[in-house]
Amino acid sequence: MKNNFALTPRMVSIYELRKTLMPYMVGVPWAEDALMDLWKMGAPDPSPQSRPCAPGTCEMEKRTGHACGKWGCRKEKRVLLPTQFEIWWRDVSARAGREIVLR
Ligand SMILES: [Zn+2]
Repeated sequence: MKNNFALTPRMVSIYELRKTLMPYMVGVPWAEDALMDLWKMGAPDPSPQSRPCAPGTCEMEKRTGHACGKWGCRKEKRVLLPTQFEIWWRDVSARAGREIVLR
């Protein structure tokens, strides 16, 4: 398994995480839940630019271009540690019955 997630902490939104990892999980029906689980393992990034919109206000923020969607506020980021990613990846590969290879 070779991937930047396994090497260094990453600060990502759920959208960025999905964009990066979904292509490797084609054909895994529970991929979306697994990715949300992984993202929630991360500690919320406390910096102001990562603070999510107040509930129901993402629409008003659309003019700023951050375009929140069904996964929640796009501004919200979490810090994923390599150890968390590795544990998650092993679990996902075991559940999928194959090693999911990242390039
Ligand atoms: Zn928002």
